[in-house]
Amino acid sequence: MSLQDITARIVKAETAAGRDAGSVKLIAVSKVQPNERVQAVLDQGHRCFGENRVQEAAGKWPGFRDQFSDIDLHLIGPLQTNKARQAIELFSTIHSVDRPKLAKTLARLAQEVGTCPALFIQVNTGEEEQKAGILPADADAFIADCRNLDLPIQGLMCIPPVDEEPSLHFALLAKIAERNGLTGLSMGMSGDFEQAIALGATHVRVGSAIFGERVKPAE
Ligand SMILES: *Cc1c(COP(=O)(O)O)cnc(C)c1O
Repeated sequence: MSLQDITARIVKAETAAGRDAGSVKLIAVSKVQPNERVQAVLDQGHRCFGENRVQEAAGKWPGFRDQFSDIDLHLIGPLQTNKARQAIELFSTIHSVDRPKLAKTLARLAQEVGTCPALFIQVNTGEEEQKAGILPADADAFIADCRNLDLPIQGLMCIPPVDEEPSLHFALLAKIAERNGLTGLSMGMSGDFEQAIALGATHVRVGSAIFGERVKPAE
């Protein structure tokens, strides 16, 4: 696979779903990938990337930003409150708002800094013990709380359980978003982004299908 192949498959999935070509944002997930691979994708003109750790992104991206001024960086992994300020400075979008304490911290920092990234609330659609995210039953109330804090909530994000049919989780996420008047849906990875697009994904997060297998584990 390559960036070109994935882009072509996205357009095909958009068209099949009766959606405009180019309506889905491709986040190239570059976590733990060697810099040469990231450079190759940048050289092909792609500018939107996802990282799951603040520390790793802070080490990797300033150098690339010296070369390209229009890099659009998304945080897709869990965010500790003590890294929230750094995350606000590095990322255009945070996909992992998953608990009240983080929401309050982001609201306070947004006031201080005078700007806030676009935010997605992570929903633990599979209700998995080890996974981050708000439980589906608590999502409506949490979305309301975030709005009361004036946070710029753009949509919802999920990571389906590895051994379940992802479409069920994408459909659930879409339903929660719709009843809350949210239009952003961050869902779909290398193995299932076409299904996610069929169910309304606005942002897909694709790593290994673009860059190749990760050289070392991500966490
Ligand atoms: C690593 C990661 C991805 C990309 O996974 P691939 O299977 O390599 O496409 C997407 N979303 C999140 C939250 C991730 O951590």
